[in-house]
Order: sequence, then C-alpha cells, then structure tokens
Amino acid sequence: MKNLKIRLLDRLEQEFALTAGQIKRFIKDFHFQMNKGLAGEKSSLEMLPAFVDRPSGKEKGRFIALDLGGTNLRLLQLELKGSGRIEKLAERKFVLKEKYIKGKGKDLFDFIAGCIKRFVQEKGIAGTKKSDIGFTFSFPIRQASITSGVLMYWTKGFCAKGVVGKDVVGLLNRALAEKGLYNIKVAALANDTVGTLVARAYRESECDIGAIFGTGTNACYREKISRILKMKGRKTKGSHMIINTEWANFNKINTTVYDRILDKNSINPGEHILEKMISGMYLGEIARLVMLDLIKRGVLFNSKLPQALRVPRVFKTEYMSYIAADRTVGLVKTNSLLRKLGIKDSCCQDRQVVKKICNFISGRAACLSAASLAAIILKIDPDLSRRHTVAVDGTVYEKYPGFANGINACLKRIFAKKSSKIKISLTKDGSGIGAAIIAAVTDEN
Ligand code: ADP
Ligand code: MG
Repeated sequence: MKNLKIRLLDRLEQEFALTAGQIKRFIKDFHFQMNKGLAGEKSSLEMLPAFVDRPSGKEKGRFIALDLGGTNLRLLQLELKGSGRIEKLAERKFVLKEKYIKGKGKDLFDFIAGCIKRFVQEKGIAGTKKSDIGFTFSFPIRQASITSGVLMYWTKGFCAKGVVGKDVVGLLNRALAEKGLYNIKVAALANDTVGTLVARAYRESECDIGAIFGTGTNACYREKISRILKMKGRKTKGSHMIINTEWANFNKINTTVYDRILDKNSINPGEHILEKMISGMYLGEIARLVMLDLIKRGVLFNSKLPQALRVPRVFKTEYMSYIAADRTVGLVKTNSLLRKLGIKDSCCQDRQVVKKICNFISGRAACLSAASLAAIILKIDPDLSRRHTVAVDGTVYEKYPGFANGINACLKRIFAKKSSKIKISLTKDGSGIGAAIIAAVTDEN
C-alpha cells in the first residue's frame, strides 16, 4: 500500500513536470504560432494589434480608468503628472453579479454606465467638463483603432448575449449617453495585458512585456511594426506597436488525463488549453480531479469520496494557495480547511498528499508561464542581449506562495546566467492605470 502510494505520487510528479526537451519544443511551437498569427494566418495565437506603443512617461492630465476584469469592475480617477508619476485621486470597486455576466449584454453595459454615474457623482467628478475614460476590457477584442474594438468571443465564464461581434466602445458610449452622461466618453480601449505593460512602461522604459495571471492568463509585448505582416499596407505611426498574444488559447502542450477531463467538461472544449493549465479559474479544479483519481485508486482519504469533492469547481485555487502556505507540523491549517469543506477525517499523510498535488499543479503552471514568457523574450531578442522588464498583474501571481519564484526558477533553467537580464515586476492595478495612460497618449496625438 505504502509503495503503491509512493509510486503513484512519483508518477504524478513526473507527469506534471516539464523536461528541458519539452520546454524547448514548447518555445519552438509557440514561435511557429506567433509567426502565423502575425501573418494573419489561422493560429492558436491571435496576435492582436493594440494600436498603441508604450508611452514616453511624459503624458499628463486627469483621466477615469475603467477596468472590467473577470470578477470585478473597478473605477479609478487618476492624475498623470508626467515624468512617470501618477496620483490616484479616487477609487471604487463594484462586484459583477452573475445576472450581468450571463444575462443580456445591454444590461451589462447599462450596469457599467450606472457604476460610472455613481462614481462620478460620489467623487464629485461630474460636471460640465469633458472626462475621458480609459477602458480596460479583459477579453479578446479585434481593434481597428485605439477607440474601438469588437469582442471576438467571451472568456472566463462570461456569456452576456448580444455583445460578441459588436464594438464594446460603441455599446458603452451609448449606455453612458442613455444615462445622460454626455461629457464622459471612452478615449481609449485596451486589453488588460496592454494596460499592465503601459502602466509599468510609463515609469520604466525597459518594460516591453505585460502578462496577467489571474482568473485567466494572457500576455502582450512590444513588436516591430515591420514584423506584423498582417498590418502591411495599413497606415501606422512610429516603429513599434503592442501585440496582444491571447496566449490563453495556445494549445500545443502535453496534457495529462486530468487536463483532458477538465477540458472535456468545460464550456469551450479544445480551446484555451494553456489557460486551463495556468490560471486561477482552473487550477483548483485540476487538483480536485487528481484527488478524485487518488481516492478511486485507494491512496487518499481511505478511499472514501467526500461529498464536498463530488461537485465540479468546488475546490478553489485560493484553497491551494492556503495549503501551499501551511508550514505547520501535521498540516493543521490544511486540516481545518478540509474540515470546512466537509472532509472531517483526513490523516496527516492524506494532507501531505493533498499538499503535494497542489505543488505539482502550481509548479507546472509557473513553469508553463515561464516558458511562454521565454518564447516572447526570444522572439524579440533571440540572444537575450538586452534587459527586459515584464509587468505582471493578477492575484495568482501575487498571492500563490511560490508561484513567482517558480517562474523565476524556470527562467533560470531556460536562460541560465542570462536570466538576470529579465526582471518581473508586479504592477498592481496596472491594467486600470494603463488604460488611463493610453487615453492620455491618444489625447496628445
Ligand atoms: P481578474 O483576473 O478577474 O482580473 P484577479 O487577478 O484578482 O482578477 O484574479 C482573480 C482570481 O485569482 C480568482 O478567480 C481566483 O481563481 C484566484 N485567486 C484568488 N485568491 C487567490 C489566492 N489567495 N491565491 C491564488 N489564487 C487566488
Ligand atoms: Mg484583472
């Protein structure tokens, strides 16, 4: 029995580990898909032009930032001071209720406009003066300019009807006008990764990559316009433009049986494979599926399937984080968490197994994140001859114990000593702040 347990756990560890050869292959496939996406060919990486380059840091003015993430809607009023400094004047968070996420698109945009109305009234921003909004929209948008973008498809469990295929700026401006907010207009639309890159680049010119590890995952980077083949013939300014990779959808990855079950039971089978192995929306569910398997094989919880683990998605990524942070003898914190979930009679060994499972899964997520970042870095700088700052936002990166270290360790495996040229900087609120900066960049043009 004991041997069986060790053998199973060893096998699991191997399955969730990435070898050097696998990482090499991953990066090669990633480049292939990037090139196809840039050429406008069918690819699992959409490589969406963002119609903006990084800012100079000198932009000035007052702006409202609206950040529509996967779980919250955030509003900020910001003053850009120039020379890289930003002052936050006001902030307000609204929870996005299920009825807006999954109801009618019109209701969702009415709700957003209503939040903006409350915000400007409460904070005394409303008035006759014109206010520009920088709108961060954390879903895939096909842009033709900085002030418009068509939603390609919803992600992160959203399915509000009547929005896919429409310009989200138009929808929001209309909803604002219906609320009588004629002075408030969206001046710039950006994806959250783009906002994060721009927010960091405002004060740090070495920043050329932005990434999100939250409910979902995605990244963007600064590309030479001459290499964006699908933009050929289009009028553009400057030499570079930010590209939103939409890497969530990258799918040339070795998966385990657990990933395949999760994918099959998801609302988008076959899609967003990388995201399903990295992001907060899914890590807990992978852990639940592994636990179910180990229970079935007789090596966990005395083969008894607790009621709490029968329901899909009940085991949250937050729980894994909590377990990963448990350094107590006998894992008493893990025990109390399991008890809260209705698993009352776990033994110490069970808890160690659960902790190991969480480690394998989050370790793989961090390694895949690093491999994806490495692919982007090698695309823009094949010899890693320059310094690169990666601006990162998202609760998984920020709060999961060991996640950030895991990314750095894997970058070290890939680049050895040269990895010191890569700096990953947590850029909290980046997505919201960035949109306001983009509004300011647009204002100057
Ligand atoms: P969003 O992606 O919606 O903009 P966040 O970056 O805050 O927002 O990510 C929220 C996600 O982070 C949640 O869906 C959850 O999966 C995950 N999460 C929340 N708390 C923790 C935690 N303590 N540790 C790890 N992941 C967490
Ligand atoms: Mg976010």
